[in-house]
Amino acid sequence: MNDRRAYAPGRLNLIGEHTDYNLGYALPIALQFGTTVTFRADPESTVLTAVSDSEDGRVDIGLDTSPGAVEGWGAYLAGCVWALREAGHTTPGGRLEITSTVPVGSGLSSSAALECAVLLALTADHDLPRHELARLAQRAENDYVGAPTGLLDQLASLFGEPDNALLIDFRSLDVTPVPIPFDQSVRILVIDSRAPHRHAAGEYAARRASCEAAAAHLGLPSLREATPDAWRELPEGTEKRRARHILTENARVLAAVDALRGADLVQLGRLMNESHTSMRDDFEITTDHIDLIVETASELGALGARMTGGGFGGSVVALCSADDARRITADLPAMIERAGHPTPTIRDVRPGAGAHLL
Ligand code: ADP
Ligand code: MG
Repeated sequence: MNDRRAYAPGRLNLIGEHTDYNLGYALPIALQFGTTVTFRADPESTVLTAVSDSEDGRVDIGLDTSPGAVEGWGAYLAGCVWALREAGHTTPGGRLEITSTVPVGSGLSSSAALECAVLLALTADHDLPRHELARLAQRAENDYVGAPTGLLDQLASLFGEPDNALLIDFRSLDVTPVPIPFDQSVRILVIDSRAPHRHAAGEYAARRASCEAAAAHLGLPSLREATPDAWRELPEGTEKRRARHILTENARVLAAVDALRGADLVQLGRLMNESHTSMRDDFEITTDHIDLIVETASELGALGARMTGGGFGGSVVALCSADDARRITADLPAMIERAGHPTPTIRDVRPGAGAHLL
């Protein structure tokens, strides 16, 4: 039987953090690096055997797997097998070989790249709709791995388009490409703090619970139904600040789309800076280390800089001119190292294609 090969990219969120599970808006890009999965089916086998160049060891997954049966990195694969079966799609056993250029745990969504590439390879003969693949990947991550993440990562990986950001509306799940005016010599830098994020732990779930509580307090099914100023009606305290982040962040995403369409990169940068302040003060998901990287990038001339991804470490995205990109790349790593942190790594990225069969 022929091999099936599929590729899915990592993603970088330009703006709109923790808005996905609040049915709001986000503006990610798919990256030009990703995860490739080669699937050799064996119709005689009831086991999928997987190896990865990013993780040690070999994983064996029974086709009858259920949550709890496989732990560690194999859980992402087992979750895909399980989610497919739950949705009524069968997959034969066989061998999965995984190679990846997405750094793991840097906030660039190696997990969604893995899930989407695996699902695409396993369903190559079925041609499932992209939205269904996204939901299956999310189900694998939420209910098998146990990470209560929203749909941002999977939709970005599946719908990516070169040189376009993607406006995602998490209520309708519409994905609208928005061209980035690269003719203005704008650069997008991803600064990896090399402090891995750990949002599968309690903090992510706690933020989610606060947002749900704020919506319930307002008598609404989700914060998406709230007016932009509705957070003012909440009593002083944590829930109010959490809701203020989500509602102002949704407004910033829509303003960022207008800024891109008007080629107003100064305004886009300003919105990114405001987003970081909101994540730092209201949503409280940044760290001193990440804040220092953001401040340093701004000092070195970035138009805008903000933490990207779920929080508590991971990466910073900076929007800058070509000259500022050179200065930041040359000077920022040593400045962060001198403050006692790991030396960050910096990549100059452009939006790449979404997941596809090879
Ligand atoms: P990220 O921001 O990179 O998505 P997560 O914590 O959500 O961080 O997911 C990282 C986890 O996903 C890894 O610890 C590993 O279990 C799994 N993973 C991601 N990519 C791969 C890969 N190429 N091979 C094996 N496991 C992977
Ligand atoms: Mg992830």
